[in-house]
Amino acid sequence: MSKVKCDHCHLSFEDEVMIKEDSLNFCCKGCQGVYHLLKDDGLDSFYDKLGNNTIAPPLQISNDDLEKFDTENFAKNYIKNVLC
Ligand SMILES: [Zn+2]
Repeated sequence: MSKVKCDHCHLSFEDEVMIKEDSLNFCCKGCQGVYHLLKDDGLDSFYDKLGNNTIAPPLQISNDDLEKFDTENFAKNYIKNVLC
């Protein structure tokens, strides 16, 4: 099995777990989303600056980090009710 580099974070994973998009490979939907966000906004010089570096995932994620999103204002601006 061969390892393939994610086109956003540059971390290597087994080829079979990658999200394929034309000649691009992404390790997750998050990387795929950010890649297109940067391209769409003309910010893809980010990848020149990244060079051969990788972007490591956060070492630990605690639920406390999510409390800042638990506000009425955040809900009003970012949550859409898909049932209506
Ligand atoms: Zn990735």
